[in-house]
Amino acid sequence: MKQYLRIYKHLDVDEIKGHLLLIDDLYGSCANCRHVGLNYTKDLKCTQCGAEFRYLATRIPSETPKILARLEQDGRNVTVIDRDDWEKATAKNNLSGLFG
Ligand SMILES: [Zn+2]
Repeated sequence: MKQYLRIYKHLDVDEIKGHLLLIDDLYGSCANCRHVGLNYTKDLKCTQCGAEFRYLATRIPSETPKILARLEQDGRNVTVIDRDDWEKATAKNNLSGLFG
């Protein structure tokens, strides 16, 4: 039986930034170069900077189940990270990240 579990993992924010697609609705933007209009179901790489997307984060938490189902259907090995966690980890005035 498989279920989704949210996990805590100590990750390199700069590494993620180079491979992260930020989803707003169906379309999203590249965290690396801020290029917009990317489609997480079609664009496996950023069409502007070429970053390969290995992480996704959505601005709409209620969309997460739909996104996970679509990734599974497409057989994509992509890690979905919590958008709030990402915002906290990258906030310039918060050096302690999630637990700050
Ligand atoms: Zn890019």
